[in-house]
Amino acid sequence: MPQKIAAGNWKMNGTRAALDEARATAAGAPDGVLTLICPPATLLPLMPAGLAKGGQACHPAASGAHTGDIAAPMLADAGATHCLAGHSERRQDHGETDADVAAQVSAIWSAGLTAILCIGETLAEREAGRTLDVLFSQLEGSLPEGATAANTVIAYEPVWAIGTGKVASPEQVDEVHDALRGRLIDKLAEGGEIALLYGGSVKAGNAAELFALENVNGGLVGGASLTADDFLPIARAL
Ligand code: PEP
Repeated sequence: MPQKIAAGNWKMNGTRAALDEARATAAGAPDGVLTLICPPATLLPLMPAGLAKGGQACHPAASGAHTGDIAAPMLADAGATHCLAGHSERRQDHGETDADVAAQVSAIWSAGLTAILCIGETLAEREAGRTLDVLFSQLEGSLPEGATAANTVIAYEPVWAIGTGKVASPEQVDEVHDALRGRLIDKLAEGGEIALLYGGSVKAGNAAELFALENVNGGLVGGASLTADDFLPIARAL
């Protein structure tokens, strides 16, 4: 069985005052669910025990002249066990291509971390009936050789559902996750064991029906991961 994961992405939110929410989340995290928060890098070393920690992105190089960037070994040194790669906000805001994302995933693996690879279609791509083509192409282009259940998690995040309040319907998520699972099994020895997360406006009120789907092993949660009151019911729905 793939691991059950409740992953929170705090994005560019949170100063030390937000650590109270992380502490409350750690205190209430359910057994049997990997509860993970990806805070801004400034907070990583300050995060409480009892939670897994992740970076939100990294540079493909391990060190060097890259002002303002952060390297995967630095995230590991600050306590991270995971790192997001290919979040649509990075693809949009920083022009990251599939090849860039693949290089980041390799760097994440080299630092001994687990990559949470984000893929997702835009609304225009969905309306053009291209959803699965886009997702398979992103998977092909941004996941290097060597993915295992230990080093990789895949997050399906329809771009049109991120931060918009528009959650994909259970039917839409089911169709995509079944197709992704089939693809992973075809391509990878451990494809049946890699955790598949859904992300896009997950809230306490919709988590249970999404997590009940056969190939949904958890959620990648943005806005609703910022407070323990919002995030814990989602983790407990797993
Ligand atoms: C995300 O940032 O990955 C995300 C899914 O955000 P939200 O839950 O706010 O839609």
